[in-house]
Amino acid sequence: MSERCDLVILGGGLVGMTLALAAARAGITSHVVDKAAPEELTAEGADGRASAISTASWNLFANIGLAERLEPLGCPIEAIAVTDGMKPGRLDFRPTAEEGSLKKDSLGRMFANRDLRLALFEAARAEPAIVWHTRAEVAGRERGAHGVSVTLRDGCVLTGSLLVAAEGRQSPTRDEAGFSLARWDYRHRAMVTALYHEKPHGNIAWEIFYPAGPFALLPLLDTPEGRHRSALVWTVAEKDAKGVIGLSDHAFLHEVAGRMCGLYGAIELAAPRMAYPLSFHHAGRIVGERLALIGDAAHGMHPIAGQGLNLGLRDVGALIEVLTEGRRIGLEPGDAQLLARYERWRSLDAFVAMSVTDGFTRLFGVPGRLPSAVRRLGLGAVQRLPALKRFFMDEARGMSGKLPELLRG
Ligand SMILES: Cc1cc2nc3c(=O)[nH]c(=O)nc-3n(C[C@H](O)[C@H](O)[C@H](O)COP(=O)(O)OP(=O)(O)OC[C@H]3O[C@@H](n4cnc5c(N)ncnc54)[C@H](O)[C@@H]3O)c2cc1C
Repeated sequence: MSERCDLVILGGGLVGMTLALAAARAGITSHVVDKAAPEELTAEGADGRASAISTASWNLFANIGLAERLEPLGCPIEAIAVTDGMKPGRLDFRPTAEEGSLKKDSLGRMFANRDLRLALFEAARAEPAIVWHTRAEVAGRERGAHGVSVTLRDGCVLTGSLLVAAEGRQSPTRDEAGFSLARWDYRHRAMVTALYHEKPHGNIAWEIFYPAGPFALLPLLDTPEGRHRSALVWTVAEKDAKGVIGLSDHAFLHEVAGRMCGLYGAIELAAPRMAYPLSFHHAGRIVGERLALIGDAAHGMHPIAGQGLNLGLRDVGALIEVLTEGRRIGLEPGDAQLLARYERWRSLDAFVAMSVTDGFTRLFGVPGRLPSAVRRLGLGAVQRLPALKRFFMDEARGMSGKLPELLRG
């Protein structure tokens, strides 16, 4: 039997480990269980993705003490350009002085997922309030009136007040709890890699919508030798995925260059190519008896808007706020009233963000000249409406809705 902690967090990925650290900073102890070893999760090439970290999510990292470690590794996003297949009539989001934000990273920062994980794991190792169980397999979960317990395959029993499922999309804890899931497959796969390019990106994130699927170029820091780099997320239809994966690097770059229309001049691969299947899911319930879902265990969306992780970090902020306020009035973390409050707070916010992203993906996926003309008209209209542009920029920054304290500046 291991010592009792306040939380037993199953899944120590980007969201689960951020929760453990944020909890520790608030004096809340955690067992963190992950089936993988940290060396596997941070191996070069294990996760080749980069994530757009919104301003609000950056505030969370700063508030839990990671700013100094992460600051030099993030590439500021100063503008977002949205186009319908690189045709005329694009929409630019670039905050102006009047919008009160002159900071270079006012639309967020790009980080390699590997760098985020390394920083989180380093901080977790130094944190006495976190008991980290790596390469651990869960053999059983119990939830009852007096607490929760998790039995590991090696016989170790972990006890606590609240069980948190942070195991990502395939969360077995969510499925075992019997939570229903709205789910659909986009029948798309994201081809992910990084590119070197001749011309600088100017800190612009490009979202180029093609009927076959969106194509995103996201700015990364130049290499120490001064080579310009961007992350690529190219969405292809499932029926074409096998063919694209099978392309030689040369042929792949030729296809990518065709979609970039000479934007950054000559390109080269800067990282291995990876493919991720894309689907949408949203759990109808995110709490049960002494159980809370966070991150991709609760919701998963198309990566085009770069909001999946940001949404998970909002879950972290909300859960910590609810638990710390509860503690002040003597309630333990597994208290049903606190969990109900967490669910009320997060369900609507997550659903709105996911619906907007899903709507965009579908709207831009309709092929044909007429839909394209209508879309470009729409982009032009938004371009001329500062209030609407501000709404979308606030969404990108993660500053809309009721923001947890930890995500405020
Ligand atoms: C191509 C692509 C690009 C993306 N880009 C962005 C972006 O720019 N911005 C953004 O905000 N989001 C982005 N996302 C979404 C983001 O990556 C996810 O939302 C985020 O990684 C979810 O984190 P998580 O910790 O909830 O889940 P995961 O990252 O899946 O972590 C789950 C953890 O749980 C562990 N685990 C799994 N099962 C078990 C088990 N049974 N027992 C114990 N441990 C277990 C795993 O080993 C892992 O460590 C992107 C997604 C994709 C596919």
